[in-house]
Amino acid sequence: MLDAALLSIDGLCVAYDGSNALNGVSLQIHRGELICVVGANGAGKTSLIRSISGIVPSSSGVVKMNGVDITGMPPWEICERGIAQVAEGRQIFGGLSVEDNLLLGGSLKRAKAGQLETLEFVYRLFARLRERRRQLAGTLSGGEQQMVAIGRAIMSKPEIVMFDEPSIGLSPALTDVMFGVVKRLHEEGITVLLVEQNVAKSLALSNRGYVLENGSIVLHGSSGELLSNPEVQRAYLGM
Ligand code: ATP
Repeated sequence: MLDAALLSIDGLCVAYDGSNALNGVSLQIHRGELICVVGANGAGKTSLIRSISGIVPSSSGVVKMNGVDITGMPPWEICERGIAQVAEGRQIFGGLSVEDNLLLGGSLKRAKAGQLETLEFVYRLFARLRERRRQLAGTLSGGEQQMVAIGRAIMSKPEIVMFDEPSIGLSPALTDVMFGVVKRLHEEGITVLLVEQNVAKSLALSNRGYVLENGSIVLHGSSGELLSNPEVQRAYLGM
C-alpha cells in the first residue's frame, strides 16, 4: 500500500495579468510514485511546476509537502523541503564548469552531508559529465546541458523531482536516454512528477497520469487506463 500523499495540490490557480493559466488544479503524488501530467503547448504544464516550486505565485489553492503547507514559501525553502525541479530550457550557469553547476545543486543544507557520494552517483549516471567536469557548461551540447540540469537536481538530495519536458529539443535517441534516466531515478527511490507533451512515452513510463487542458485537469487515471482511453488516443496519440 502507498503512504499518504507526499505532495498534495488542491485547487491551485495561477493567473498572469488577470488571465488564468491554471484553474483549480488538484493532484496527489504518493511517495515512490512516478506520475505524469501531459498536455499540449500552453496547457499550463510549466505554470504548474513553477507554482509548486514557488517561482510563480498562485492566486489561490494549497500545496502541501509531507502534510506541511508550503504555499507561498520562497523557492529556496521549498527546495530545502525536498522538492527539486529540472526546468524546461535547462537554466544552468553557462559561465561555470559542469562540476561547479553540480556542486551548486548540492549546496542546500539538506544536501551537504554526503555531497561527494552524491556527485559520484551523478557521474555514474552520466559518464559524459565526468569526462567534461571542467568544461564550461555553456559550451556543452543541448543533451549534455540537460544532463547537468538533472544532475544538479539530484545533488539537492530531493524526495521528489519535477521534470518540465525533459525531452524538449532533443533527438529521438537522446529523448530515450532521458526517459531512461527518469526511470532509473525512480528505481533509485526518488518520487517523480514528469510534465510532458510526449504523451505516449510519458504514460508508458508512469504509474498514473493526469491530462491538463487549458489550465484544468480533464482526465486522470492509471497510465494503462489513459493509454486505452479513446479521447486520449484521438487527441494525443494520433489514433
Ligand atoms: P509549453 O508546452 O508550450 O511550454 P505549457 O503547458 O508549459 O506550454 P505554460 O507555459 O504554463 O504552458 O503557459 C500556460 C499559459 O500561460 C499560456 O497561455 C502562456 O502564454 C501563459 N503564460 C505563461 N507564462 C506567462 C507569463 N510570464 N506572462 C503571461 N502569460 C504567461
